[in-house]
Amino acid sequence: MKALVYTGPKSVELREVAEPEAAPGEVMLKMRLCGVCGTDIGIFGGTHPRAVAPLIMGHEFVGEIVGESSRFAKGQRVVAYPLISCGDCHPCRTGQPHVCAKLRLIGIDGAGAMTEYVAVAENVLFPVPEDMDDRIAALVEPLAVAVRVVEQSGMSISDRVVVLGAGPIGLLTAIVARHAGAERILISDIDPARLKLAADLGFTAINVGKEDLDQWVMTVTDGDGADVVFECSGAPVAALDMTRIARPGATICLASMHKQSNPVALLDIAFKELSVIGSRVYTREQFGRSIELAQVLAEPLQRLITLTLPLSAAGDVFNIIQDPARNDVKILIDCTE
Ligand SMILES: [Zn+2]
Ligand SMILES: [Zn+2]
Repeated sequence: MKALVYTGPKSVELREVAEPEAAPGEVMLKMRLCGVCGTDIGIFGGTHPRAVAPLIMGHEFVGEIVGESSRFAKGQRVVAYPLISCGDCHPCRTGQPHVCAKLRLIGIDGAGAMTEYVAVAENVLFPVPEDMDDRIAALVEPLAVAVRVVEQSGMSISDRVVVLGAGPIGLLTAIVARHAGAERILISDIDPARLKLAADLGFTAINVGKEDLDQWVMTVTDGDGADVVFECSGAPVAALDMTRIARPGATICLASMHKQSNPVALLDIAFKELSVIGSRVYTREQFGRSIELAQVLAEPLQRLITLTLPLSAAGDVFNIIQDPARNDVKILIDCTE
């Protein structure tokens, strides 16, 4: 079968590889669509701390059952909760397996979905509703990230929200925050194409390369500062912005991975009594809820998908991502072509 294989820093190859075999407890899936995630870009760049070449990437996928299963019929479409926890460490023993000390993911620590067939543990599979488009099902995993941060924020109805970063996670977070009742949502970035999409989705979109973030936050929040700030950019400057634009008593949720230790204004956190909440992935329950939510939010969600590449052409995907002439938001790989 064909597979897109990470072969080392800055290198992927479309290879012919052996089909996997389903171990006890696993079921064989035929892949339909697989999303390309920021994590995959990190793996490609050679900066992911755990990914080891050769590796088939891909953890955001929808597939169909082709193997024997006691729970699913052949042809049934499924999505997979991609987290694998050890069951043994302190977080696992205390009900927080999503932050397992030895957390592993399908497509990072083991073979993923940018291929034709994957054997997946049956107990992590969720059925896809019959009337759901494959493309929407492929967004369930990143949507679960947004569901978690919005739930963690304790956001109230009518809150005024700032989302830093208009990448897929920032846009998904803004969409979920609006669904959860946020009254005004400002979203910032420096990429004009992403900002245009944010504006088309109905958010106040600010180019922080050209416009004054603080001034816009004050305008949108009637001079109060943001009730909730979602940091989805990973940009070093955002670590300073996030506390400055927050109102006293506000909550800041970190949905991005700051790979280096960026300066943070701790005095803001103390003086304004801010709550800062970290977020890594999502729970199994939140993943399940995001399937239902994806159906409700299908219209705005499908607008995030700017390119679908056949697997046979996926060897070029990271060149496309790095091409300054293209401004994709979410790229999907069609594993059936
Ligand atoms: Zn992802
Ligand atoms: Zn564990």
